[in-house]
Amino acid sequence: MAEETIFSKIIRKEIPSEITYQDELVTAFRDINPQAPTHILIVPNRVIPTVSDVSGEDEAALGRLFSVAARLAEAEGLSEDGYRLIVNCRDHGGQEVYHLHMHLLGGRPLGPMLAPRR
Ligand code: AMP
Repeated sequence: MAEETIFSKIIRKEIPSEITYQDELVTAFRDINPQAPTHILIVPNRVIPTVSDVSGEDEAALGRLFSVAARLAEAEGLSEDGYRLIVNCRDHGGQEVYHLHMHLLGGRPLGPMLAPRR
C-alpha cells in the first residue's frame, strides 16, 4: 500500500483543515498557503502518490476530481471568469506532497501557465 502523507490525516479529520467538500471518493480542502483568492485542493481519498501511479481502478475517483472542481468553482463564483486546474507530478512538476491532488485556483487573472525559465 502507498505511504500516507498529511493529506490522509486531513481526509480522516485527524488534523484541522477547512474541508469544502467530501464524499466516498474525494475530499476538497483549502490550501494552507493560498496562491490566489480561491485555492482549493481536491484529492482522492485513497492514496495515489503521483499521476505516474494511476491505474484503471482510479478512474472513478479521478473523474470525480473534475466534477467536484466544476461544482466548487461554481460555488466560489469562478465559473464565469474562469479558473485553473493544476496537477503537479514528481520533481520536475514541482510536486511537494506525494498524494495526488488537483489545485483549483481562481478569483484573479492567473497569468502565464508557466513561470519564466530561471
Ligand atoms: P504540490 O506542490 O502540488 O504538491 O502542492 C502541495 C500543496 O499542499 C501546496 O500548495 C501546500 O500549500 C499544500 N499544503 C501542504 N500542507 C497542507 C495542509 N496541512 N493543509 C492544506 N494545504 C496544505
